[in-house]
Amino acid sequence: MDIFKVDLHIHSPHSIAVSKSLSLDTMLETCKKKGLDILGTGDILQPQWLKYMETNLEKNKDGSFSYKNVYFILQTEIEDKESIHQVVLFPDFNSVKEVQNNLKSHSKNILGDWGGRPHVNLSPAEIVDIVTDSGCLIGPAHAFTPFKAIFRQGKFKTLQDCYQDAVKKIHFLELGLSANTDLADRMDCLKNLTFLSNSDAHSQSPRALGREFNKFDIETPSFDEILLAIRRKDDRKIILNAGLAPELGKYYNMFCNKCRRRIMFKKAKKKIISIFNQYSITDNFIIYFSNDPLVAKKDYIIQVSKNKMICPACKEETGKNYKVKLGVSERIDLISSREKPKHPDHRPPYINTVPLFDIIRAVKGIKSTTSKTVLSAYNKIIMELGPEFKILIDVPISEIEKFDLNIANVIKMCRNNEISYTPGGGGIYGQIKIDL
Ligand SMILES: [Zn+2]
Ligand SMILES: [Zn+2]
Repeated sequence: MDIFKVDLHIHSPHSIAVSKSLSLDTMLETCKKKGLDILGTGDILQPQWLKYMETNLEKNKDGSFSYKNVYFILQTEIEDKESIHQVVLFPDFNSVKEVQNNLKSHSKNILGDWGGRPHVNLSPAEIVDIVTDSGCLIGPAHAFTPFKAIFRQGKFKTLQDCYQDAVKKIHFLELGLSANTDLADRMDCLKNLTFLSNSDAHSQSPRALGREFNKFDIETPSFDEILLAIRRKDDRKIILNAGLAPELGKYYNMFCNKCRRRIMFKKAKKKIISIFNQYSITDNFIIYFSNDPLVAKKDYIIQVSKNKMICPACKEETGKNYKVKLGVSERIDLISSREKPKHPDHRPPYINTVPLFDIIRAVKGIKSTTSKTVLSAYNKIIMELGPEFKILIDVPISEIEKFDLNIANVIKMCRNNEISYTPGGGGIYGQIKIDL
C-alpha cells in the first residue's frame, strides 16, 4: 500500500467567484509545491469542463486518471432542493454523462456556462439514489457552515432527517474549513461516517488548493481504491485528516448577517446586571461583557437559534433590525449530543495546520493575500525545504531555523497546538496571533 495526499473538493472557472487562471497546468504547479498527489477535478458535470478533462486526462491501467504526474478523481458539488451542497465522486466519464443525463431535466443551469455547481431541484434522498445508481459516492459538503449546508441554522439536526431512507448510502461527510474532527465527533449520528477534509478551493493559489487534505492509505490512486478507503474496506483507509484550525475558517464564529461583525463574549471587569447595555463595537467585532461570559454566551446562542437576536451595531448605524446568525462552533454546541468529542475507533487523527503562505504573511506583517513579496518568500522556502506539507509536518524545526528563525518558530507552535487565533466568522477568515 502507498500513502497519497488527497484533496477531493475544488471548483472550476465555471463556478461563480473562481479564478479564471485555474487550469490543469496551474493546478499541477501548486500540487507540486504543496505535495498533493490526488485532486478532485471540480465541476465535472459542467459540459465545457467535462470536455476539457476528458480531452486532457489520461486513463491509466489501474483505472486512475492523471495529468502529467498528478492524479485526478472526477468530482463535483451539487446544490439540492433544500439548498444543501453535496460532494459527488464519479468512477469514470460514463457515469458522469449518465448522471448529467438523469439530472438535466431537474436543473436549469447544469448545462450552462455557469453550471459548475448545478442547482438540482430534487430532494437530498432523490439525488443520492440517482448518483449511487451510477456507482458514485456522495456526502454532505462543508456540513456545518451557516449557508448551503445540511446542519445550518434552521435546517437538519441529524443525517437521518436529511437523507431519510437513503441515509445508508452516505459514507462520508466533509468537515469544511471551520470544523475539525473534535467538533464533528460531538455528534453521535456521524460516528459511522468517514470524515473528509477538503479545500473547496476557488483558485490554484497555494493558500487555497490543498489547504485541507487527507492522507489515504491505498493500493493505487484510482476511484475504486478511494471508495474502499472511504468505506474502510480491505485495509484501505484514511490515516490522517489535515486542515485549518477551525478558528481560521470563515464561518467559525457567530456574526451579524448584515454587517458581518463577529459576536464575542468577554469577562466584565466590574459587576454588571445585563449584557445588553454592556458591549463595545469595533470594525469587525461586537464584544459583550458579562460576569460569566460562558453562561451568557450559552443563553445568547439559544436566542440566536430562535432568530431573536438583532445586531446592536446595525441598529445604531441604520436604525434597522438585522439578525445574528450562528457560526459553525455555536451550531455544533446547539445540536451536538455531547460537550466533548467521542472519537470512534476508526477515526484517524486530525492535525490543525496553517497555510505556509499565511505563516509567512503573519511573520512579515503583510496583510495582502496576493503579495508578491510573500509569494517569492514562499517559493524560496519551497525550493529549499519543500514541498509545503513536508515543511509544515515533517521537516525538523532545526532545519527550518537555518532558513528562517521566525517561520520555524511559528511552525513549531502550530505543531504543538500553541497558536492562538482571532476566530473567523461571517465570511471573514480567522487569523493567527503571533508575538515575535
Ligand atoms: Zn459548497
Ligand atoms: Zn450588523
